[in-house]
Amino acid sequence: AAILATVLGAGPKTYRADLEQAIDKLLHIELPKARVFEAAGHLALRQLLNVLRLFSPLNRSGNVLLARLHEFVNGSSDALSGAAFQAQVQLQESMLPKVFKARRYVGCIGSAPVLRGFTCSLWTLFHYLTVQSARSSVLPAGYVLGAIHGFVSHFFGCKDCVQHFLAMADRRKLFSVATRDEEILWLWAAHNEVNQRLAGDSTEDPQFPKLQFPDLNACPKCQLQSASNTTWQLQEVLKFLKDVYDAKNLSNYGLP
Ligand code: FAD
Repeated sequence: AAILATVLGAGPKTYRADLEQAIDKLLHIELPKARVFEAAGHLALRQLLNVLRLFSPLNRSGNVLLARLHEFVNGSSDALSGAAFQAQVQLQESMLPKVFKARRYVGCIGSAPVLRGFTCSLWTLFHYLTVQSARSSVLPAGYVLGAIHGFVSHFFGCKDCVQHFLAMADRRKLFSVATRDEEILWLWAAHNEVNQRLAGDSTEDPQFPKLQFPDLNACPKCQLQSASNTTWQLQEVLKFLKDVYDAKNLSNYGLP
């Protein structure tokens, strides 16, 4: 209850605990579900691990873990089983100081146990990764969105989400983004489309209604409102996202 009250009062913020939980669930639950990583699935795993190791929000041993897993998968044959990947995660973790310390979601806490949580933390991680990529310039424009597309195509367990996301990726031309800033804005606009579709849905947490993001309170300069419509001010939105999802601004609230 204390976390919920704090988060509700804080406005948009990125919590390290949520990023950690997202990666924890990816490595220990979602990815090992794959029977085998081969061809496009193997490439999708390599790209995802590459992005995670470059922009890891984890502690020092977490960075080592991601780097070793990336190296392992790069060196593995093109028919790596989910079980072999899982065994490697366990082996590497057993040789390192504790990586995952977050015990609960913070910014992604739900007002009931079935609400929010993992999918919220995934969005948070994805936005975070697009912003870090724009800050560092080590990866070409479009790489992070490509890795997200690969994850959704091959490993995302929510079948409805997969279908919607892939259709949206086609319609919104995910593979045509030309700059890293566009990549940040592409994901923001796509997420807002999902928010709009799910507003009022049974999956909506009444404490966290699905509004267009960011709302006027959080960023008054991000929208121009007239009687008939709202116009997003894209440069202001970009500035806002680069601030909220900046590694330097991560909150450690709720971590032991
Ligand atoms: P979320 O939508 O999960 O958002 C998490 C946090 O991100 C918010 O609290 C806010 O701080 C921030 N945020 C919100 N909007 C934006 C934005 N536009 N830009 C930047 N930051 C933002 N569920 C379905 O039922 N059907 C689907 O088709 C579906 N597709 C999905 C596709 C993907 C790729 C993912 C990751 C999830 C999908 N989900 C889908 C789950 C759904 O979008 C929510 O994650 C879930 O309902 C929990 O919502 P939430 O209130 O925690 O906020």
